[in-house]
Amino acid sequence: MRNATLSKSHFDAVLFDLDGVITKTAGVHAACWKKLFDDFLRDHAISTQQVFVPFDPVSDYTKYVDGKLRQEGVADFLASRGISLPLGDSSAACGQHTVRGLACRKDEIFNTVLQEKGVEVLEDGLALVGHVRANGFKTAVVSSSKNCRLVLQMANIEKLFDIRVDGVTVEQLGLKGKPHPDTFLKAADMLGVQPKRSVVVEDAIAGVQAGRRGNFGLVIGVDRLGNASALRNNGADIVVTDLKCFIV
Ligand SMILES: [Mg+2]
Repeated sequence: MRNATLSKSHFDAVLFDLDGVITKTAGVHAACWKKLFDDFLRDHAISTQQVFVPFDPVSDYTKYVDGKLRQEGVADFLASRGISLPLGDSSAACGQHTVRGLACRKDEIFNTVLQEKGVEVLEDGLALVGHVRANGFKTAVVSSSKNCRLVLQMANIEKLFDIRVDGVTVEQLGLKGKPHPDTFLKAADMLGVQPKRSVVVEDAIAGVQAGRRGNFGLVIGVDRLGNASALRNNGADIVVTDLKCFIV
């Protein structure tokens, strides 16, 4: 792990991803995606008379799903298996074998788990938010999740961020999700800071790609799953396993 300083002379704001950076929900998401895709892949294997190959909650999750908008995660993972489903009707029943039907079902599974288990925070991420705020930085939470606000409320940490850009904002404003830089750029704009004077903190490949494409001043990759080299190769300037190393 490298030591680094987040200096006010270089930066004005820190833009935090939520799942896997501030809250432990990345693992919950991965488990929910596995349930969703394994149910689908089992049915698909039977109907096409192929072997059932389950979803890998580490490699498939990090490569195709993590950090992305829900529908894009569904389409990108299925494409990796050579499966293409119709987009489907937005009012269609959850669980239908369409991109929207599976995305909707994923949300159902996630919400059930959330209500049962609650939200766990990641102490190092939370400590860094507190530290940078105490040092006068502006803070934003930038998440692809439409459940971002609910997760923040359940963890009682909503007030730690000056603004929130999430899956709901994406839909309302017609933004492109990560790996496009739009959500982070919108957050910087809302805070009134320049991207070059803003720091992005991300645990997903799609997230560090977004930070790099937006030309942010510093992209910090948080390695929660042993994917440090993938984070580095996709745009992280520095990769750490514990965000407390920035608290000096
Ligand atoms: Mg994340």
